[in-house]
Amino acid sequence: MSGPGGNGTDREFGDGDEAAAREAVRAAGVELVETGLVDGTWGNISVRLGGDRMVITPSGRDYRSLGAADMVVVELAGGSVTGAGKPSTEAPMHRSLYLARPALGAVVHTHSAAASTVAAARREVPAVLDDFVQVVGPSLRVADYALPGSGRMTRVVVRAMAGRMACLLANHGAVAAGRSLPEALLCARMLEKGCRSFIEAEFLGGAVPLHPVEAWAMHQVFLHKYSRTARGGRK
Ligand SMILES: [Zn+2]
Repeated sequence: MSGPGGNGTDREFGDGDEAAAREAVRAAGVELVETGLVDGTWGNISVRLGGDRMVITPSGRDYRSLGAADMVVVELAGGSVTGAGKPSTEAPMHRSLYLARPALGAVVHTHSAAASTVAAARREVPAVLDDFVQVVGPSLRVADYALPGSGRMTRVVVRAMAGRMACLLANHGAVAAGRSLPEALLCARMLEKGCRSFIEAEFLGGAVPLHPVEAWAMHQVFLHKYSRTARGGRK
């Protein structure tokens, strides 16, 4: 979809791809509602746009009523809005992830059901399933509680996601990321599946995690094997 960008990575959306990025975020919002990962106006989605901006869903609007023009373009460094619109209140969290992790191309925040349950219990999800581990990483940590939209939220999320593509937000929900938007959406689905399996396995006598080294290796294989083909499409 685009050539090599900054930071030595291929970008899904280059500086000139604003229209395509707006449409992709809009369509992803509808997909999240239709797959049951978000309800109404809860949750938010962004993609990196070129080297120093992102396109993010607006604050407090139902995804099914939004057009591509309603998406908001925000500068990563300062947080200023280019053009019109009021970005999601979680825009600072999205910006901090792009600034801290140059390889990330998309970030999805959901309040999906099983993830919210585990977030309420503040339990770290171990390496319960192969597919979960490949996409999310060797475990799903819980970021310390922070008020939505706060500066503290930006810090606890970056810390909890170190070496992983997702984390839970204590008593709140989940954050999933990817090098492309399809990969971030896959990650959001995998973390929800992993949380549901973890809850149910605990009821069956206790989840038995994979060995940490094997879990780490499986995630690395996913990142490297699919590093070329994950851009702008399914792996
Ligand atoms: Zn939220």
